Amino acid sequence: MTQMDDELWYWSVDAQTAPYLPVFQVRDTESSHGRYAKGIKQIHGIDLVRFHGHACDGLFRGMYAMSLALQFLFPDGVVDRTDLRFLSRNSPCLGDVGAYLTGGRVRFGTQDVRNRPGVWYIVQRVSTGKTVEVVEEEGFFPHEIMDMEARLSHISQQEKSEAVTTLKQMQEDWLRNSLFPSHPEEHYMVQEIDFVWEDVPYSHKGTRTDVLYKDVP
Ligand SMILES: [Zn+2]
Repeated sequence: MTQMDDELWYWSVDAQTAPYLPVFQVRDTESSHGRYAKGIKQIHGIDLVRFHGHACDGLFRGMYAMSLALQFLFPDGVVDRTDLRFLSRNSPCLGDVGAYLTGGRVRFGTQDVRNRPGVWYIVQRVSTGKTVEVVEEEGFFPHEIMDMEARLSHISQQEKSEAVTTLKQMQEDWLRNSLFPSHPEEHYMVQEIDFVWEDVPYSHKGTRTDVLYKDVP
């Protein structure tokens, strides 16, 4: 195994060759107190894996969903990560994808969660209030995989070993056969909505100082 092969053990060949995996272009500030950086950065799926920890189905479903939401909010294709806040289900995977791609974080009051099942995001531009909701098509992700996930919590330790392996295999098969061959717009729907952002109830919230002086000439 070469160094490179070894390094990519967490990024499957299916993911490496997925034809429609979104690539995100983002703009940030250039220092702890602004201003806007002139350059843009590209974010690939593997960057999200390094942040989140693994290439799960939720990571890819989140990427697909977020790509439509961000395209809608930034038609020029460059996502301003200083100007966004978002909501998702409290899933480790969906929340991480959302935070990485939007810059939204609970501790600055720009990320929150709602107890609503499924893969969805509500994403808002802070400066304009323009808001979109993106949702995954009902039934796209198979119920048999969700049943398997639920089953894990009430089977014996011995059964769990096999079930965890089977579940991962089912998720990977679904990615290979259903998600990766499809374009994001085939199974994810985005629409503009009227939305009033509710204050995030976290008492240690602070000011995000690295965007305060972004517009200084
Ligand atoms: Zn995950």
